[in-house]
Amino acid sequence: MRLNEKQIAACTGGQFAVEPMDARVLATGLAWDSREVKPGDAYVALPGERVDGHDFVAAALRAGAVCALVMQPLPSEVLALARELGAAVIEVPDTAHAVTDLAREWRGHLKGRVIGITGSTGKTTTKNLVRDVLAAAHTVVATKGNQNNELGVPKTLLAADPETEAVVVEMGMRGAGQIAQLCSFVRPHWGVVTNVGESHIELLGSRENIARAKAELLLSLPAASGMAFLNGADDMSDFVYECSDLERWPSTAVCFDGSGAYDAAGCDVSDWRRRPAVWAEDVSLDEQGRPRFTLCARGFSEGWPPDAPDDLAVERQECALGLRGAHNVANACAAASVGRAFGMDLATVARALAKSLPEAGRQEVLRARGGFTVVNDAYNANPDSMRAALTTFCALDVPGKRIAVLGDMGELGDFAAACHAGVGEHAAALPLDRLVCVGELARIIADGAERAGMDAGRIVRAESISDALGDLDVCVEPEDAVLVKASRFMGLERVVEGLVN
Ligand code: ATP
Ligand code: MG
Repeated sequence: MRLNEKQIAACTGGQFAVEPMDARVLATGLAWDSREVKPGDAYVALPGERVDGHDFVAAALRAGAVCALVMQPLPSEVLALARELGAAVIEVPDTAHAVTDLAREWRGHLKGRVIGITGSTGKTTTKNLVRDVLAAAHTVVATKGNQNNELGVPKTLLAADPETEAVVVEMGMRGAGQIAQLCSFVRPHWGVVTNVGESHIELLGSRENIARAKAELLLSLPAASGMAFLNGADDMSDFVYECSDLERWPSTAVCFDGSGAYDAAGCDVSDWRRRPAVWAEDVSLDEQGRPRFTLCARGFSEGWPPDAPDDLAVERQECALGLRGAHNVANACAAASVGRAFGMDLATVARALAKSLPEAGRQEVLRARGGFTVVNDAYNANPDSMRAALTTFCALDVPGKRIAVLGDMGELGDFAAACHAGVGEHAAALPLDRLVCVGELARIIADGAERAGMDAGRIVRAESISDALGDLDVCVEPEDAVLVKASRFMGLERVVEGLVN
């Protein structure tokens, strides 16, 4: 970002408590953690649960912040320090809103294409793949890590330059209206919905309501130039399509399909899946569980509707992913469809997909102290990703035993028991040698697996992480592989640390 103090005060509705000494103070970045302030940043004092950002204004100014946004009066010595350093202090009605206000203002300066990504599962993975694909031919700024909320999304926009060609924004949500709120200042040109699953069903009540919440992204797209990317293999995509009113701009729904079962010829002419589409054929996994497939695309260069729809040529390109798991084929097809819509050729797209690697905690393959393999997927979990992780894990070529350490999945409300039992049933149907369940809800995974026929002697109900580590200590051998996965709050990365360090 490059906003001067006048612009900042104007867009946040702020008043100067300290005017800057120089005529113009230009803020070139944003920080709300004083330890992360870089010279030139605007520091925003956010009230937190444990600490109040207002207590750290002096530290931020000393670290080089050129202005501080606050919502309560500061001690006179801090104001004096600001004057001494030539920095501005601006009092705003609400500092959290101010972050959004700055992003809204800066969004107006961006000339590149803004791409929003939402969905129940695979947002971060798809965002990284889109980033890596587009970066092969364009300048790109994308969400760092998983910063997909009301603070992280503004931060992503503020990190872009006016000339940045693509800004890729992951958008998360917990309830209805939140994506619409983010879109009000992100103003995306294109929107990707990875899939509609069961995460956050606790607050939304049904998959239809989750789909409606995802559709908020597509409803926000500009009617003339918007482009919606939908998962052709997701049973809720038709519903998302209807909710998004996509008929109003029929040429710009793009289908991606990683199921391996996409049937171009079988699609009705009026079906949105027929429109520009990217799909995978002949999907297989190598011995490391990495997918290989033929990446196919059609309908991108031709006008729509084409004169002779059946004559649309299909482009094909062999593709091998750097990521593990068949579920990533869909994420890769999503990224490829964005790249192809950007005008990139499939060969460049496929090369970028091959180089794209996982983030820490997502299907990360590590070597443990004892020589065995650890698949660290402890970053987070929901029913879909839990099943996908188990399937991926059991496709790995393991000379010894396959052991899964699974913990509770959160935010499932009334659906929690059924979802955990379902994961247990899924596990029982796979070639898994041992199932270690950690936590209250994870006991239901164990029960589900046992009911579905898994040998009770291979199922462990651990009360705690140290319990689980104790069991692993006894039973894991050097040839084995251990999968670790649960929702974030379970902190199962401590199991990974216990095994690896
Ligand atoms: P969050 O809600 O935490 O932001 P996310 O939507 O960003 O999650 P990722 O972080 O990309 O999702 O992936 C979370 C988990 O889901 C990982 O374990 C990953 O392997 C798995 N996963 C990714 N894509 C899919 C998919 N298309 N289907 C099923 N599981 C998936
Ligand atoms: Mg994410």
